[in-house]
Amino acid sequence: MNTQDYLRTQLLDRKTRLLAAMKRGSSDHLNSLMREVDTALEKMAGGTYGICETCHDSIEHERIMTDPLARNCLDHLSPDEQRVLERDLDLAFQVQTKLLPKKDLEAGRWRTAYHYEPAGPVSGDYCDLIIPEREQGALYFFTGDVSGKGVASSILMAQLYAMFRSLTREAGPIHEVVGTANHLFCESVIVGHFATIVAGKADDAGGVEICNAGHCLPVLVKNGEVEILPSTGFPIGMFCKSEYESIRVNLRPEDTLILYSDGITEARNSSHWQYGEQRLREVVGANFMLAPQDLLRVCVEDLKKFRNGVPASDDMTMLVIRRT
Ligand SMILES: [Zn+2]
Repeated sequence: MNTQDYLRTQLLDRKTRLLAAMKRGSSDHLNSLMREVDTALEKMAGGTYGICETCHDSIEHERIMTDPLARNCLDHLSPDEQRVLERDLDLAFQVQTKLLPKKDLEAGRWRTAYHYEPAGPVSGDYCDLIIPEREQGALYFFTGDVSGKGVASSILMAQLYAMFRSLTREAGPIHEVVGTANHLFCESVIVGHFATIVAGKADDAGGVEICNAGHCLPVLVKNGEVEILPSTGFPIGMFCKSEYESIRVNLRPEDTLILYSDGITEARNSSHWQYGEQRLREVVGANFMLAPQDLLRVCVEDLKKFRNGVPASDDMTMLVIRRT
């Protein structure tokens, strides 16, 4: 079904429901909703559906998919619509902030530090740390990035929190956790949305199992040497039948793992150069002996220096995990 057909079905469904409600008793509110649905259906028939009434450009795809009655693009909302959107974004931001894990979380001999910075009012990046109830000294860690931007991606990101927090209660191998998350994500998400994820489980003995579903390649500092860990699968939500694999590494005291989102490595300066993986590796390589919080701070400061005032165009996340 193409987008237009899908939205027509959506509008007709709304019309049926409105008619049923009006049979039970009419009101100004129902009449006005019905007028809006009819206007949208007329526009569809006349070929002007999905066009902003103010600037006559197309209305953002995500906006029309979530609100088939939208009449203006995001740049041309009415003052009322703007107030509603601001209130929603505010609320979304509050919900999102509450989802983040505790700062400087420690589990057994694992130390962590993370930086989480949305480019706009809300973020599509995912960052979580979970201490399993039944396994002492173990730690689950996650970073991810949901495709798209804005509120839609922040909602999907909230779904990742819920999914992984409940899936990690049944402590299976991490690649199975990601495999199940992929099925669930495929079944519940609008077609064309997916998420890149690095999911890992660190155990009490220093063993770390990592599954990388199409996300930025983690940096590992082991015995003072900087290595890059490979990707092991497709982003979740892309292929329902994807199978996932994981790799295993053993971390000794002072070894450090760094996960990040592409908002870090793809950040640009005013000459449009990318920050890049190479520079990140170099900064990590020169500072890995610092405490996790300080290593994180140096990385974020170096990126800021590189950007030199150019505003971030993408959400940025970085997570440091240290074995002590
Ligand atoms: Zn417009």
